[in-house]
Amino acid sequence: MPRSAARRVLLERMRAQIAAHAGRTAVRASGGSVTYGDFGRLIGWFCRELRHPGRVRQGPVGLLLERSVAAYAAMWAAIAVGRPYVPLNPRYPLARLQSIVRQAGAEVAVCTEPGRKMLACLGIAPGNAIVADTQVPAGGSGVTPLDWSESERDEGSAYILFTSGSTGEPKGVPISYDNLHSFIGNLDSTIAYAPEDVCSQVCELSFDLSVHEVYLALLNGCTLCPAREIDLFNPARYVAGNGITVWVSVPSLARVALHNGQALGEALRTLRLSMFNGEALPDRLADAWQAAARNSEIWNTYGPTECAVAVTAQRWRNGPGLTEAGVVSLGTAFPDCTAALLVDGDIVPVLPERSVLAGELLLATPQRFDGYLDPNLPPPFVTDHSGQMYYRTGDRVLARDGRLFYLGRLDLQVKIGGHRIELLEIEHRLRERLGTDALAVIAHPRRHPTQLVLFLTGGHKAPRLTGEALGLPNYMVPRQCILIDSLPVTTHGKLDRDGLHERIATDP
Ligand code: AMP
Repeated sequence: MPRSAARRVLLERMRAQIAAHAGRTAVRASGGSVTYGDFGRLIGWFCRELRHPGRVRQGPVGLLLERSVAAYAAMWAAIAVGRPYVPLNPRYPLARLQSIVRQAGAEVAVCTEPGRKMLACLGIAPGNAIVADTQVPAGGSGVTPLDWSESERDEGSAYILFTSGSTGEPKGVPISYDNLHSFIGNLDSTIAYAPEDVCSQVCELSFDLSVHEVYLALLNGCTLCPAREIDLFNPARYVAGNGITVWVSVPSLARVALHNGQALGEALRTLRLSMFNGEALPDRLADAWQAAARNSEIWNTYGPTECAVAVTAQRWRNGPGLTEAGVVSLGTAFPDCTAALLVDGDIVPVLPERSVLAGELLLATPQRFDGYLDPNLPPPFVTDHSGQMYYRTGDRVLARDGRLFYLGRLDLQVKIGGHRIELLEIEHRLRERLGTDALAVIAHPRRHPTQLVLFLTGGHKAPRLTGEALGLPNYMVPRQCILIDSLPVTTHGKLDRDGLHERIATDP
């Protein structure tokens, strides 16, 4: 594939930040700070490693890395050499990482010293493992800041993220340079960053909200602060300790910050921008955040991984018209995105003057992916009479005067702590593991779930479940098991998940 123009533009913008801010801090981590100049050198070092003649020089590059300067530089190096990167979350169980590496066809990966063994278990040959230090620009000296010329050709995708898949395997979502570039442009023209900003980085790199955190910060010359795992238990202290001015997270982490923020008082006062995404933002939470972060604008953004992070945004102000059933509006679609609703099989555009309408949200946007990595998984696209193709989000929304309000999911996908989870994937793994079909998993409580509950029939004992044994991330492991005689069914003979929710209410 020839070189994409969007890739060139992204690289030029990154180079411009490195040149303009060479002596300023690009990344401030617990182990030390890295200037933009050093960051450029580190990208150059990774480019050289990726082009090393002894290594496989094409195909996706796995990143078995936590939030770190090495991870950010390796992402940019992958873009420079024209290969997609695939985050390999070191916290995932081996079986899941093996599935991701196999599906992506990644033969080269970056890790830190402790990750070497893991890469071997993932089938990456030792010669194709690039070992980086997470804290300092390893081997960076001798490479001038701008010495990372881009490859002439590229493989089309900037990155591939894997989300929970209802077939039982994680599904790969390739995002093109055009998709990424459109997202960055749209967010840039909606919410303004400044080079003086100090930006949070709390999301795991396998979650697409990290794309927002990392790219918007580095492409605006800001300082990015990768959070340590311990920071996630007291985010308010992390904000105060780093003088964070720009916050991006799922609402669940805001709840933790407000709850655990020791002597919260002034802890969030440095914030001037707070952006939420990933799950419903209750208005009470937005109000509580505003009271604690009183100098901050608050934005609710919305989008699926398949449409590159976010396609709508709403600035929060407590007033009439911005909430529905206690949840903050998703706002309006970015200007180049056409939102429509699927209502009784009809595609109805969302227009400012159309008053109230509810249905499945459809998106036609340059941020939309072209289809899943697995060609056997049909992408959920639908086309209208004019030939306009939309992505079917599976989200039920209400459109009121052009503004969108989240009502819930139309399928069995749930969000817990911002993690996207297909209940069918968990049930698939449990069936394999427990050797029975007579089980079901629900996310409870129904509206804003906080836990997964397994229902098991047939005289089984409550099993001890672990992520490693199931091949699932810990957040996908049911923490509660309820033994029942039989699964309730609807009048049509289908599993009655509502009935299971009622059982929880009555379970002693
Ligand atoms: P992900 O692909 O992990 O980003 O998850 C996308 C899904 O998260 C969407 O289809 C929605 O169901 C949910 N979601 C994302 N942002 C919001 C939001 N601001 N409010 C409500 N739900 C959201």
